[in-house]
Amino acid sequence: MGAKRTRRSGLDGKKGSTMIETGSPVSQGKKRSNVVEINLQWCKSCSICVAFCPTNALTADEVGTPHFAYPEKCTGCGLCEMMCPDFAIEVVKKP
Ligand code: SF4
Ligand code: SF4
Repeated sequence: MGAKRTRRSGLDGKKGSTMIETGSPVSQGKKRSNVVEINLQWCKSCSICVAFCPTNALTADEVGTPHFAYPEKCTGCGLCEMMCPDFAIEVVKKP
């Protein structure tokens, strides 16, 4: 029962119905940052992704909602995506 969810369908499939926070891309010279997309409609603000981020690229606000606050710190390790129980966060690696 219930809608089947995939990692990508909610992010790409329903235009205009999904809020996504991506943080600000960093473009100061050398390397382009990875982008972490957070589907705020699926996120339940448990902060698990924040707790597992080894570089503190993610921060949590007062209610536990994650924000991709420091894109320059993100290594693209994928831990946040792997640990999220709700498939609400996705790492988009930049070339
Ligand atoms: S682990 Fe998933 S559900 Fe929990 S705060 Fe992070 S993105 Fe939201
Ligand atoms: S990909 Fe790794 S470094 Fe980047 S935000 Fe997620 S857990 Fe942190």
